[in-house]
Amino acid sequence: MDIVVASGKGGVGKSTFTGSLISLLQEYGIAAVDADAEAPNLHIVFDVKEWEQEKEFTAAKTAIINDSCIQCGLCDNVCIYEAIYVEEGKHKIKQYLCEGCGACKAVCPVDAIEIRDTISGWIRIASTRYGPLVSAELDVGKPNSGKLVTEEKNIAKEWVKQGKAKHIIVDAAAGIGCQVIASFSGANRAILIAEPTPSSLSDLQRVYWLTQHFRIEPFLVINKYGINPGYDGIERFARENGVEILGRIPYDSSVPKSLAAMKPLVEYAPDSPASREIKKIAEIVAGWL
Ligand code: SF4
Ligand code: SF4
Repeated sequence: MDIVVASGKGGVGKSTFTGSLISLLQEYGIAAVDADAEAPNLHIVFDVKEWEQEKEFTAAKTAIINDSCIQCGLCDNVCIYEAIYVEEGKHKIKQYLCEGCGACKAVCPVDAIEIRDTISGWIRIASTRYGPLVSAELDVGKPNSGKLVTEEKNIAKEWVKQGKAKHIIVDAAAGIGCQVIASFSGANRAILIAEPTPSSLSDLQRVYWLTQHFRIEPFLVINKYGINPGYDGIERFARENGVEILGRIPYDSSVPKSLAAMKPLVEYAPDSPASREIKKIAEIVAGWL
C-alpha cells in the first residue's frame, strides 16, 4: 500500500496524526516519507537526532554575473523579479530573488551572465524506531518541488523493493500544489485530514477533487472534533460525496506536549482521548495492509 495523508490546509494536525499512525503500524513495515519540504517535522515527532545520509537537491537555477560585465544596466531593466541591484557601481544578483528565467542573459551584450544549477534543498534519510524515514527540506526562498517529492518517493519504493519496508505512508505538504500532486503519484489511498471549520471545508474540497482527478480512494479524518459545536459542514461534505469517515479525533491538550517531548502522541499520552481515537483509525488502516 502507498497511503498519502493530506490536507488542503496547514495546521490541522496532519503530521501529529501521521506520526502516531506510523508508530502504531510499525510492525507492518512502514517506510515513512515526509513530503512537506517547506516545513518537515516527522523527524521531530520521531526524535531523529542525526541523519544517516544527506544529499543536495538541485532543481533551481540562478544567474551569476562574471567579470566581463560592462555595467550597461540592460539586465536590470528586464529582471521582473528585481533580483539585480547595483552596489559600488557594479551589477550584482540577489540569489534568493533570482528565478533563473534567463532574461538577463538574453539581453546581455557581452555574454557576462551564466545560468547555473543551484542547491534547492536536501534529501535526508534516517532509521527510526518506527522504520526508515526519508525527509526533505527546501532552502530558504526556494520553490516547492514535485521533483523533490518524487525523488523521496522513489527512495521509499526502493526500500520496498529491497524488503526494508512493505508499505509507504506519505505525509504530504499542505495545499494542492506540485508537491502534493507528486505525493499522490502512485498512491492507492488518501487519508484527508480536516477540522470542523468552513475554511478547512474549502481546502478539503480542493484536495478531495485532486484525489478524484488521480483516481485515488479518499478517506476522511476529522481532527479537533468538537471545537466548533453545531458546525456539520465537513460531515455533510463526506455524506454527499460518499467519503468514509475513519474517525473523529477530539481536541486534546496532550498534542502540543507530545510535540515538545518529540514523541508520537500515542506514545506520549496513550490513554488520551485523541490517542484512543487514533488507535481505532490505525486498526482500520491495518486492515488495508
Ligand atoms: S535569471 Fe531572471 S530572475 Fe534571475 S536575475 Fe536574470 S532576469 Fe532576474
Ligand atoms: S547586461 Fe551584462 S554587461 Fe550589462 S550590466 Fe548586466 S551583466 Fe553587465
